[in-house]
Amino acid sequence: MKFSQIPSHESVKRQLRDMVADGRVPHAILLHGPSGIGKFMLARTFSQYLHCQNPTADGEPCGVCPSCMQHEGFNHVDSIYVYPVVKTDKLKAPVSADYITEFKEFVESSPFMDFDRWTTFFEKKNAQPVIYVSESEALEQRLAVTTTVSRYKTVIIWLPEKMNEQTANKLLKLIEEPFSDTVFILVSDDASSILPTIYSRCRPIEMKRLSDETVADYLIHRLAMDPQDAMAMAHIAAGDVNAALRAMDATSVSRMFFDLFVRLMRLAYQRDVKGLKEWSADVAALGREQAVKFYDYCRRLIRENFVYNFNVPELLYLNRTEAQFSKNFARFISENNAEAIIAEMDRAANDIAGNANGKIVNFDLAIKMIILIKNF
Ligand SMILES: [Zn+2]
Repeated sequence: MKFSQIPSHESVKRQLRDMVADGRVPHAILLHGPSGIGKFMLARTFSQYLHCQNPTADGEPCGVCPSCMQHEGFNHVDSIYVYPVVKTDKLKAPVSADYITEFKEFVESSPFMDFDRWTTFFEKKNAQPVIYVSESEALEQRLAVTTTVSRYKTVIIWLPEKMNEQTANKLLKLIEEPFSDTVFILVSDDASSILPTIYSRCRPIEMKRLSDETVADYLIHRLAMDPQDAMAMAHIAAGDVNAALRAMDATSVSRMFFDLFVRLMRLAYQRDVKGLKEWSADVAALGREQAVKFYDYCRRLIRENFVYNFNVPELLYLNRTEAQFSKNFARFISENNAEAIIAEMDRAANDIAGNANGKIVNFDLAIKMIILIKNF
């Protein structure tokens, strides 16, 4: 990856390039700042740049030399990655290398390094990944072998704050001499949690949160999102691309719920029994937990549409798509049927939570909707 492909952080990029140009690359650099801003990408690119056989005049790794190619594939011999991992029954003293396949997949699918997502890559649920002392021991052995290919070995440590004291003390010895050809690049979401002995050995470089515009731009260009929606989401995310992506996942679920709600109401109005049967199967296919959430969503929309008729906009909590739909739909919900519809949805949710057959429960509700929707 090139520096120019990483959004923002221009002054940090300049600092890193200057270190190389001046031949003053510190033994240990600490890139720190809020999560979801691209610190790890920058660390990786810097490591690639240090190893590139033919860097460009404007300070970029060439991207085509053998060294650059090896970097892209995580298999450059002088580039080592350290990251938090999990102990299992089989792996009593785990090291990062044990999880390199998972890590590659994670970095590719989550370039802004969402730690919560990383925890989902482990079979053991609810385990908190840690950098174990076994890691420092393995690292010591690797660094003892002199480099053959490059001037520097680089060690990128993602989340040094996930290291215990024992690991840190061993690492500390490595950061100091005699491994003078090694550059440690620590990437931290929370520098205040790094042990002071480690922190004090590093050259700290603070990285700032991304602007709303930068996050929105990323969502628009990488994910083809509508500019207005992207800006709204970027604002909620407060500069954290991972938070924006999480919000987007949530949005796509509510969009799916909305579509299912609209389908139910249309089919019920048209007395389309065959269509309602298919609808029932689709809702059942969501699974029990999601189906219960779907009925929560439906109840909310019924309530909102009932309130819609009172013409008090400040009492309404509808997004753009929902509000558009309510313009025509709200008149079908009145004091004559709102309560009964909500009660039916309540019952459906309870039955599904209580292990009843989803298809039957959904279809039963769908048939009742045929009558209820006409009783406004
Ligand atoms: Zn290159």
